[in-house]
Amino acid sequence: MPVQIAPGVHRLGTDYPHVCGLPLWLHVIEAGPELVLLDAGIASTPEAATAPELARLGLGLADLTLVVNSHAHPDHMGGNAVLKRMSGARVAAPAAEVGWLEDNETLLTELWGSDPAALDLSPTERDELLGMLDERVRVDVLLRDDDLLPAERPLRVVTTSGHSPGHIAVLDETSRTLFSFDDVQGRGQPFLDNSVWLAPLYTDVDRYVAGLNRLLSLDFDALVPSHGDVLDADAGRKRITDSLEWVDEVHTFTTNLLRTKGSLTVRELAGEIGTQLGDFGGLCLQTVRMARAHLELLARERTAEPRWHLS
Ligand SMILES: [Zn+2]
Repeated sequence: MPVQIAPGVHRLGTDYPHVCGLPLWLHVIEAGPELVLLDAGIASTPEAATAPELARLGLGLADLTLVVNSHAHPDHMGGNAVLKRMSGARVAAPAAEVGWLEDNETLLTELWGSDPAALDLSPTERDELLGMLDERVRVDVLLRDDDLLPAERPLRVVTTSGHSPGHIAVLDETSRTLFSFDDVQGRGQPFLDNSVWLAPLYTDVDRYVAGLNRLLSLDFDALVPSHGDVLDADAGRKRITDSLEWVDEVHTFTTNLLRTKGSLTVRELAGEIGTQLGDFGGLCLQTVRMARAHLELLARERTAEPRWHLS
């Protein structure tokens, strides 16, 4: 059932818990003549969940005029093609991620394929991802930091980066609701059906930290993550500072481990983070990217030096 979280702002359930075992919420905003959908879900979401959720509000997919993607991960943009086909809505997304948003191969190669020695998709996993991604569509409206969405309601774009290279948050200035999507990850997210947690994912430490500090500087009454409950201002700020503390913890862990072992591969560090700092199932996209991000920061700080050897 849709829940009104602020005047003209409705939180919609999705099929993602059944498909991937994680909560995922989309949001629809009434903005004068525009009906704005924040995020698209995976390929199956529009017909399986968004259409029936909108029907409960007396609306349909055809009423949507603008679909916004917060970033280029499948659960936030896989529904674009179906939504475009059924509504004709324009698609707005971060300019910095258009390469990933318009081409599945680029996304798979650069995100999942960045460290083949640590993470290699099986043909089945690859097919599952392509199934969630569907066909890509052209992005109509390129979003940059501080833009207002093209709607008769001030919805401000805040580039946070970090979780993904061009990730944006959206601030509804009317209700002071801050949609943080996937950028405020705390210490990760529990799966619904087992004890394993989904680890935080970020591709660049400095950018993740800068984005979190940026969110902390904003005035908001509610913080709305895609995969968790709506938080009031105090709880939202606490979640942001928890996220910053997590980054420090991983960086100290990485530095100490490197000191103890002398050298580390991305694979080794990801395995350690994924078991020692939480029950994250060891090696996965999240821990591999996190490990790489912290090692790259050490290299930028000239504390460590990357080396290559023949495998
Ligand atoms: Zn994401």
